[in-house]
Amino acid sequence: MNRPDPRIIRADAMPADTPEVPVCIVGGGACGLTTAIRLRDLGLDCVVLERDATPSGSSALSSGFIPAALTRLQKSLGIDDSFELLVKDVQEKAQHGAPEHLVQAYVHAATEAIDALEAHGLPFEIVRGFLYPGHSVERMHSMPERTGEALMARLIKLANDRGADILGEALVRELWVNPQDRIIGVGYERPDGSLEHLACEQLVLACNGFGGNNAMVRELIPEIGDATFAGHTGNDGSAISWGRQLGLQMGDLDAYQGHGAWVTPQGALMTWAFIMEGGVQVNKQGQRFSDETGGYSEAAVHVLAQPERIVFNLFDQPLLDLLRTFPDFVEAEKAGALRQAADLPALAALIGCNPAALQATLDEVAPGRTDRFGRSFKRSLQAPYYAVKVTGALFHTQGGLEVDAQCRALRADGRPMTNLYAAGGAARGVSGAGPAGYLAGNGLLSAVAGGWIAANSAASALSHSK
Ligand SMILES: Cc1cc2nc3c(=O)[nH]c(=O)nc-3n(C[C@H](O)[C@H](O)[C@H](O)COP(=O)(O)OP(=O)(O)OC[C@H]3O[C@@H](n4cnc5c(N)ncnc54)[C@H](O)[C@@H]3O)c2cc1C
Repeated sequence: MNRPDPRIIRADAMPADTPEVPVCIVGGGACGLTTAIRLRDLGLDCVVLERDATPSGSSALSSGFIPAALTRLQKSLGIDDSFELLVKDVQEKAQHGAPEHLVQAYVHAATEAIDALEAHGLPFEIVRGFLYPGHSVERMHSMPERTGEALMARLIKLANDRGADILGEALVRELWVNPQDRIIGVGYERPDGSLEHLACEQLVLACNGFGGNNAMVRELIPEIGDATFAGHTGNDGSAISWGRQLGLQMGDLDAYQGHGAWVTPQGALMTWAFIMEGGVQVNKQGQRFSDETGGYSEAAVHVLAQPERIVFNLFDQPLLDLLRTFPDFVEAEKAGALRQAADLPALAALIGCNPAALQATLDEVAPGRTDRFGRSFKRSLQAPYYAVKVTGALFHTQGGLEVDAQCRALRADGRPMTNLYAAGGAARGVSGAGPAGYLAGNGLLSAVAGGWIAANSAASALSHSK
C-alpha cells in the first residue's frame, strides 16, 4: 500500500511488542550518520532509518566540502583562521540574516566533529589553491577524492564499524506522539508496503528538506520551481510536513542553495572555482549578465533568466587545468560537455552569437578592468577558448524546522519539544532568506555540525531521564 503523506499519529503508547531504541534517526545522509557515529562514541544505541537500500542522500551528490575553522588539520597547515572569522563570513554572505545562535553553535561543533571523524581515520584534506565566494581563508575539508560519494562511503563504514544500526528500505511515514507532546516512536514503510514500528526515547530528524517535492518547492519557493532539481529526490519534505502538523516553528522556508553551473544535458556540477580564477558566463547572445563572483547559489536565478535558460561557461587553458582536478568536471568532460574553439570567431559560432558582441564582452575581461556589474579581473582569457553549456539548478532547500542551539525543534510558543531534534537540511539553515545568503559549504556545515549537536543533546536528555 502506498501511504501518500507523512503523518502524525496521536497515541498513548506504541503498538504492543514494538521494539525500542534509545535514539532513532530518520535519514542516513551526512547528518544522520554523523549523529549515529557521535551517539556510538557516547556509548548509546541508535537506529538510522533510511528510505533507500543504501544511504546516499544529497550528501553523496555533493562535492563533500565541509567548512570548519581551527581544526587540527587546518592548524597543522598554518592557515590563520578563527571561529569569529567563519561566523563573520557566514553572516556576511547571509546579509546578517542567519540565526546567530545556530551559526555560533555550528561553527564550534563543526571543528569538534571533523577532529573526531579524523581521529577515527577519515583522511580529510583541505582544498587549497582557491577560495569560494565569501570565504576569507582555506577551510574546506574534503576527502582526497573530492566527492560527497567518498565522504558518504567512509561515514557509512565508520558508522557500521562503531556499531550503529542502519536500516535501509525504511521509509518513515509516521511520527507517534503522546498526549504530553512527546515523540514515542515512528512507523516506517517497507518495500512491500507493510508498516513496521520502532519506539524511541529521542528522535532526530535528519531527512533533509523538500527539494524532491516539487509541489512544496512551487508553494514555498516559486522562483525556482521550474529549475532542474540536482539533489536527492527522496528528500520529499517529510520533516516540514510533520512540523506543520505538530504546529512547530519553521524558518527561512524560501531559502535554498541554487547553482548557476549545472552542466546540461549531461547533468553534472561544474565547480565555481573556474569563476573565482577568472572564468565568465555568457548567454546565447554572447553577453555577460551578472557579477559571477557574487556566488554560485544566486547565480542560478541569473542564469535561469537568460534566453532558453541556457548559458555558456567560458574559460581558457589554465582554468581547464584547474577544472580537471575536480572529479565532477572530469566526468562531465568524459560525457562530452567540453567544447573547444581555436579563436573568437570559432567561439562565437559555437555559442551561436554575433562575433562582435562576444568580442565586446571579452574586451571587458581585462586585468585592472572593473565591469558594469562591479566585477574586477586579474587576467584576460586567452585562445584557445573552452566552453561548457550550463543551466541553473536547485541543489537543496535551506529552510526547515526552527531549532535552538541544541537542535531541539521549537513549538509555536518558542518552547522546545522535549525529545524531537532536527538537523542538517531538515532544520532551518544558516543562509538567511532566498538563494543569495548561501555560503559555499553551509549545507554540509549544517549537516555535520547539526548532527553532532543533535547527538550530544539526545545523549544529555537520556542521561537526565535516568
Ligand atoms: C550537486 C550538489 C552539490 C553539493 N555540494 C555541496 C558541498 O560541496 N558542500 C556543502 O556543504 N553542501 C553541498 N551540497 C548540499 C549538501 O549536499 C546538503 O546540504 C547535505 O548533504 C545535507 O545533508 P543531510 O544529511 O541533511 O541530507 P541528505 O544527505 O540528503 O540525507 C537525507 C537522507 O534522508 C533520507 N530520507 C528522507 N526522507 C526520509 C524518510 N521519510 N524516511 C527515511 N529516510 C528519509 C534520504 O533518502 C537521504 O538519504 C550539495 C548539494 C548538491 C545536490
